[in-house]
Amino acid sequence: MIKIGEILGSSSSRSNWRPRGVRSRSLHRISRRSRSLFIHRILFTQQDILVERSVTLSQPCRSALGDNRNPQKISIAGDITLSVISGDTSAMCPLRPGMGHRPHGYGETHAAFATSAGNVIARRRGPRMAVAPLQVPSEPVVGGMGRPARIAVVGAGLAGLSCAKYLSEAGFQADVYEARDVLGGKVAAWKDDEGDYYETGLHIFFGAYPNMLSLFQELGISDRLQWKSHSMIFNVPTEATADADGLVRTRPVYSRFDFPEWLPAPLNGIVAILRNNDLLTWGEKVRFAIGLLPAIVFGRRYAENCDSLSWTEWLQRQRIPERVNKEVFSAMSKALNFIGPDEISTTVIMTALNRFLQEKNGSKMAFLDGSPSERLCEPLVDFITARGGSVQLERPLKRIALNPDGSVRYLVLRKGRDEEIVKADAYVSAMPVDILKRLLPDEWRALPLFANLKHLVGVPVINVHLWFDRKLTDVDHLLFSRSELLSVYADMSNTCKGYADDNRSMLELVLAPADEYIGKSDEDIVDATMAELQRLFPQHIGEQAAEKANLRKYHVVKTPRSVYKTTKGLESYRPTQTTPIINFFLAGDFTKQMYLASMEGAVLSGKLAATEIIKTVFEASQDGTPPAEAFLSSSFEN
Ligand SMILES: Cc1cc2nc3c(=O)[nH]c(=O)nc-3n(C[C@H](O)[C@H](O)[C@H](O)COP(=O)(O)OP(=O)(O)OC[C@H]3O[C@@H](n4cnc5c(N)ncnc54)[C@H](O)[C@@H]3O)c2cc1C
Repeated sequence: MIKIGEILGSSSSRSNWRPRGVRSRSLHRISRRSRSLFIHRILFTQQDILVERSVTLSQPCRSALGDNRNPQKISIAGDITLSVISGDTSAMCPLRPGMGHRPHGYGETHAAFATSAGNVIARRRGPRMAVAPLQVPSEPVVGGMGRPARIAVVGAGLAGLSCAKYLSEAGFQADVYEARDVLGGKVAAWKDDEGDYYETGLHIFFGAYPNMLSLFQELGISDRLQWKSHSMIFNVPTEATADADGLVRTRPVYSRFDFPEWLPAPLNGIVAILRNNDLLTWGEKVRFAIGLLPAIVFGRRYAENCDSLSWTEWLQRQRIPERVNKEVFSAMSKALNFIGPDEISTTVIMTALNRFLQEKNGSKMAFLDGSPSERLCEPLVDFITARGGSVQLERPLKRIALNPDGSVRYLVLRKGRDEEIVKADAYVSAMPVDILKRLLPDEWRALPLFANLKHLVGVPVINVHLWFDRKLTDVDHLLFSRSELLSVYADMSNTCKGYADDNRSMLELVLAPADEYIGKSDEDIVDATMAELQRLFPQHIGEQAAEKANLRKYHVVKTPRSVYKTTKGLESYRPTQTTPIINFFLAGDFTKQMYLASMEGAVLSGKLAATEIIKTVFEASQDGTPPAEAFLSSSFEN
């Protein structure tokens, strides 16, 4: 018995409740003239599902919904219709403030909602920004119709693991195949001979990561996130001067943006900016605020439209002084995509600013309490395997074999010295874009969605770990170095419980842009990093340092092709999670979703791919097609 179905309705009716028949497979469209908002389909969820304002459901609606899993608070945008299926009929209720639903708060301009059970959804079309986690149906979608569909997911980064997690939860058999012997892809970490961890990247979690935070909650591991004070801290270059004895005792200087806890967004951000007078002058702040006005008024749509400009070009167009770039946005640009403001698309910076300023805790940061492979990826694997799926390491995909109609017939993986053939009902690539491009079957290359991938190319980045024999700083936070060579860094002995050391520092530093250094030896990279650190910690590093810190050991992790380089004009080349191939889906931070190339983006992309797969099975089931046959096709879909 399928619990969910397609329901449509319009808010144009004056009546509060309207019973509706369900189970129509076709998509009903409501004319623009009626200006109706409508319930789309329960499983029709997209990345742009969004929240605008919250309402409390009026009591009659709540009881009519009759499902205690339905929250009493949902988020809506103006007139929107909420529906519920009860047995074979549905009831609909236009959610308007006038109907007794109390609006709360303030947010985006569009909205959507689905319960975790997937049996209620309201959705409104339009540009939007997700501030609520996407809900994927968590109950078996189709019961009693043969074996569950089997999905092969390639890549055990956050996108692949998230996709498999949500598929397993919805009753699918999800098997993940990973090329390497370590989980996590770009969040992978390793233990050295002394038991110390080193990582692919210094990773920060933000308050504006709804899907990631809800994933932690669902796995029951939220306590592993170590939240820091709501601040952004920048190094201020200082002139190191030697004392009479020839020794340098100059201390590092930090400039802070502190977001007051007692103020809502965006006021907390505005106050944080206004209170900091170290980096920008009042004149520069005012100029910047005026320049930002269109972004504040038009929100995400404006951010998207700015993809044709680099950040520096946008600043020039808004007549904002170049110093704003030098003092603040050079560091932010490097932190977001490992490239400078002359290269980065304005959409990237605007999207981050939008989230940071729209959500009270959007820019609040957390560190994981240990290695991401162990503390985040392993619980995901446990979740998947507990539901009948599997995660297999050292199983690189070699080739995708096709059926005559162009759909995937099977995967050829490497297994030791042998090959293994993997057959499934549907396949998800959660590999990085650079590798996906290499493995695409020739027959697919001309299809626009795949052809466009040539524009997306991974950017090099280097993660440096330095273990010292003494403490360099007691700052328990991320630091923006504002140096030419380095991006962000942190003293992990302070910020991460699993790496804690009361007496000695372990600095983890991101070296970016890294084009010049990616081909150099580890020794050269460490030397260059130490030279940079001498400027940040002159009292500890360098010949004349009064409280000299000695480097005990180091690890350098180079990623020649990391997240795709978000230069201007690339947004339209990002692929959706569905492809022209009916049984082939995409996940990965480069796929279309609104959270840029980030951990949140990766998790959301996996969720979106899972949602599309569930949707395909659900739609097929309307005709009585069993899950395992939902992905059979006869031709390319494009
Ligand atoms: C230095 C650095 C710092 C970062 N800092 C942050 C941060 O602070 N905050 C943030 O949100 N994000 C950060 N990121 C970005 C974040 O790590 C990524 O966006 C995210 O982890 C990408 O996940 P993914 O699953 O899309 O891709 P990946 O993690 O790349 O996963 C792809 C997986 O596919 C596997 N694979 C490749 N080829 C094959 C094959 N042939 N067969 C099978 N498997 C294959 C790979 O081994 C990998 O495990 C950072 C990234 C780096 C590199």
